[in-house]
Amino acid sequence: MTQSTPAPTDRTETDATDGRALVELENVNKHFGSFQALKDINLTIPVGQVAIVLGPSGSGKSTLCRTINRLETIDDGGTIRIDGKPLPAEGKGLATLRADVGMVFQSFNLFAHKSVLENVTLGPIKVKGVKKSHAEDEAMTLLERVGVAEQAKKMPAQLSGGQQQRVAIARALAMKPKVMLFDEPTSALDPEMVQEVLDVMAQLAHEGMTMVVVTHEMGFARRAGNRVIFMDGGAVLEDTDPETFFNHPEHPRAKDFLGKILTH
Ligand code: ADP
Ligand code: MG
Repeated sequence: MTQSTPAPTDRTETDATDGRALVELENVNKHFGSFQALKDINLTIPVGQVAIVLGPSGSGKSTLCRTINRLETIDDGGTIRIDGKPLPAEGKGLATLRADVGMVFQSFNLFAHKSVLENVTLGPIKVKGVKKSHAEDEAMTLLERVGVAEQAKKMPAQLSGGQQQRVAIARALAMKPKVMLFDEPTSALDPEMVQEVLDVMAQLAHEGMTMVVVTHEMGFARRAGNRVIFMDGGAVLEDTDPETFFNHPEHPRAKDFLGKILTH
């Protein structure tokens, strides 16, 4: 397992557990046919929190992220609110609210036929109506921030996986999201590239970005996270701070999971 370098102080100063609720899930259930992938999820993520989502494969972590971003519908009766506003079913309201939620996936979903710079400017220009020159200035600042500014003119395939994933983060940030969702952003990377992506994420966390992070990088979870949400079988079984979770997991499934992931 990769050990992250950020010091414990990289955790956001605020530990904003009493801040405004940014993401709220109430009685969220999700069925795929007769299979229930999410079981009565109730979660409130306050502004500035870095919530780490852990759990074995198939426990519903990706489905949880996808419902928050409304890539998946939820069953009737549940609610998801972003910054106080319920997620609308579809239409322009959905596009606007979705812009508040940035998402970075395991596979680097860059547009293969567009340059790095175009990948980052496309959303602001098309969705937000930002002027091209302004969008490009902002994109260059973001690419600088994630350390790939010199790659701006290249096509995604010319970049390493770690660089592509950093571009994906810059692209999500270009929409000025209120919350960032990361679904195993380093799982598809060669080991030597994991750290450069985690460093960018730790920096974001340090700057106070609200984040929901699905990851198996326990070093990152401990250092950058202020909350651990442990899922199994579509349900949240444990919801606590990282120190408590890693040192004193309560649920047998959490103990079992930690035993496997920390000893392999
Ligand atoms: P995780 O990300 O924790 O590995 P997922 O959220 O991807 O888990 O999946 C949770 C469960 O839901 C799995 O059993 C998976 O097979 C099922 N599932 C996910 N997406 C679909 C889908 N589109 N159709 C049917 N079943 C799905
Ligand atoms: Mg997943």
